[in-house]
Amino acid sequence: MQNQLTLFNTLSRTKEKFEPVNPGLVGLYVCGPTVYSDVHLGNCRTFISFDLIYRYLLHLGFKVRYVRNITDAGHLEGDRDEGDDKFAKKAKLEQLEPMEIVQKYTLGFHDVMQAFNTLPPSIEPTATGHICEQIEMIKEIISKGYAYEINGTVYFDVEKYNKEFPYGQLTNRKLEDLLEGTRELSGQDEKRGRLDFALWIGAKPETLMRWPSPWGWGFPGWHIECSAMSSKYLGNTFDIHGGGMDLQATHHTNEIAQSQACNHKSPVKYWMHTNMLTVNGVRMSKTAGNGFLPGELFTGNHPLLEKGYSPMGVRFFMMQSHYRSTLDFSNEALQASEKGYARLMTAIKTLEKIKPSSNSGIFLNERIKACYDAMNDDFNSPVLIAELFEITREINSANDGKISFSESDIKGLKKLMHNFVFDVLGLKSESSNTSKDKALQGVMEIILEIRKEIKTKKDFASSDKLRDDLKKINITIKDTKDGATWSIEE
Ligand code: AMP
Ligand code: ZN
Repeated sequence: MQNQLTLFNTLSRTKEKFEPVNPGLVGLYVCGPTVYSDVHLGNCRTFISFDLIYRYLLHLGFKVRYVRNITDAGHLEGDRDEGDDKFAKKAKLEQLEPMEIVQKYTLGFHDVMQAFNTLPPSIEPTATGHICEQIEMIKEIISKGYAYEINGTVYFDVEKYNKEFPYGQLTNRKLEDLLEGTRELSGQDEKRGRLDFALWIGAKPETLMRWPSPWGWGFPGWHIECSAMSSKYLGNTFDIHGGGMDLQATHHTNEIAQSQACNHKSPVKYWMHTNMLTVNGVRMSKTAGNGFLPGELFTGNHPLLEKGYSPMGVRFFMMQSHYRSTLDFSNEALQASEKGYARLMTAIKTLEKIKPSSNSGIFLNERIKACYDAMNDDFNSPVLIAELFEITREINSANDGKISFSESDIKGLKKLMHNFVFDVLGLKSESSNTSKDKALQGVMEIILEIRKEIKTKKDFASSDKLRDDLKKINITIKDTKDGATWSIEE
């Protein structure tokens, strides 16, 4: 199945067959969170999408080095005129040290990623832990003639670069068009070209996070961080670089320029971008103020939320749309997803109870192939889920005695569901391990035993009443030839 994987490459704007640079080790780099505040659900969508991609690569048997950085310094998109250091700003606001801010929000991010059952990356490098590598890379870019220093700040010379390499390839735009969309330089600007961006930013007296460099005290630009860390851990050309599509035009375009200028090599074979989570059609963002925090979502503690939603219900909601489609948040959609998730989980439990027959009632190999076809087609999780729902219908039919499953059908289906529901989609059972669930299971076993005794005494009125009373609280009893089973109606 490995050689059938295709993925959409932002750079070529086409779906390509996945052929790793080095088949022995796939390099995957995803731009991580900026930890001066909590991640919102939009950020989570991107990280959960790449978790799906990482999980599927692992499932196919690739050895993957997954690097997801932590942006814990600077985060200035442009030159020194554009905004303050956001970490220092937040540190002043919360009366903390900047590194206390970093620690607080990094821990919060890890908790959220764990709640959503994402696998930890192989390496989680921080910008502050790689200042030397960033300085070395900037020195190299200067020595190759693509950057210049003015008053302690180093700028990347976009127009000079564009004479040799196409700038703006990732968004399919020419330099002239990009220049047209930017404002003229004013007398106060120190950089030479309108599109030039800072690689290193000279510290102002009030700058809290600062490091010594050949250009004086300062801090690195945001883009150089990812170029330095990705090449350090994955090499000068690696397989997949990902992030949200809002990063294409500036952050990733500049990453390509820096790495190409430094190494004269295209840094990435496949660029992958996730689409945005929106609220009423507007992109969820820190600045728009329409961001739900995952904690608010889990408790329902937000004016736009009708109730709290479980992490796996939310993860399932994300998986039901393709990573390149927009996904609009709504209470209705989340409630439907919770039901869909519960339906899958119930089917997995039902599968455990079905007694095998001597006849096979399904086309197992076709089902398995359909699941792989969906994921091999650019990680199409909604098509995979539609297939899993078809399988769920068959499991329910077998449970109702309408079709039969052979022993190998059951074995194969268990493996299929385990592989795709747990390993690939990254879902897990939310309820089965709590002590309340265990108690309910025990109580229901006692009730079914009592009902069996009542029936043996031919007191059918009492056994029916027991069944009907349970139905009123959404517990369904089914009498089968092998005894009674119970389930909770979702
Ligand atoms: P940030 O911490 O703002 O740098 O964002 C971390 C990641 O979340 C980046 O890959 C962004 O592209 C992504 N992101 C930000 N907003 C959204 C959104 N509304 N939907 C999906 N991804 C987003
Ligand atoms: Zn990045």
